[in-house]
Amino acid sequence: MKLANSPVTQHVFEEIPFYLKRDDLLHSQFSGNKARKLMSLLQHDDPNITHLIGYGSPQANSLLSLAALAAIKGWQLEFYVDRIPDWLKARPIGNYRGALDLGAKVIAMSDICAEPIHPEAFIKKHRQDAHHLLVPEGGRSPIAEAGVKTLADEIVEWARFNQDKPIVVALPSGTGTTALYLNKHLNQHGIEVMTCPCVGGKNYLTTQFNDLNEANHPKVLSRSQKHHFGKLYEADYRVWQSLLEQTHIEFDLLYDPLMWRCLLEWYPKNVDKQLLYIHQGGVLGNESMLPRYQRKFD
Ligand SMILES: *Cc1c(COP(=O)(O)O)cnc(C)c1O
Repeated sequence: MKLANSPVTQHVFEEIPFYLKRDDLLHSQFSGNKARKLMSLLQHDDPNITHLIGYGSPQANSLLSLAALAAIKGWQLEFYVDRIPDWLKARPIGNYRGALDLGAKVIAMSDICAEPIHPEAFIKKHRQDAHHLLVPEGGRSPIAEAGVKTLADEIVEWARFNQDKPIVVALPSGTGTTALYLNKHLNQHGIEVMTCPCVGGKNYLTTQFNDLNEANHPKVLSRSQKHHFGKLYEADYRVWQSLLEQTHIEFDLLYDPLMWRCLLEWYPKNVDKQLLYIHQGGVLGNESMLPRYQRKFD
């Protein structure tokens, strides 16, 4: 099974003409950058493996992608979280609901251990054997490189037929893994990669890049005000709404608004460049983010 060749569509936002790489459309459930980062596990054919093991937040986009991967491979996903909020347990929505529908087991540490223990420590102690395939949080790992390289290859191929202006690829970062490996495999083709930190600031992102042992980093745009991951910002919501109105594309509410706010400042000084934006998926997560925004700002 091979998932690749997501389409590229063409749009205008606030007078910025841009192409959009639709990685949100890779597959109905296994899509976005988490799918790219986990793609090498799709080709992982070890008959000993029965379980896929991950950890993180019960609302994370990675939970849904791991659940989809496990469903495709016939593995049982066990996903460890610190706790599941009562309201979410009572009425599952978003990535959590999607993962449960795909047969995932989401396990709260508080339900299985009396002593507080970090999910990662628990997994290393109790799940490290030949039957369990362990995935680090958010897919932050060198296993991500192969899948992200496939994305880079598709962009290089597309760029051969779009050479009017220098291409700049833009995508927001969490761990920065996608942007880093994309930059590694696009730079040698003269394609620039730009990102912005959505978790922590510029320094945190640089530290993340250095941890993955790559000397060559993508260009980092950032805004002067502090931005906290998962917090609600009216400016983010307004940009997201305008994107939807003007492009008829639903973007993700956690990462994409900040990248676009950076691009709105960047583009007027760079009108000679051709923007290619990567849609990294995450739209099911909006099911829980959007009602929060609507309650606060509508
Ligand atoms: C995970 C995710 C990101 C961040 O990806 P990193 O590789 O961790 O930088 C960005 N956008 C969406 C929609 C995501 O799900």
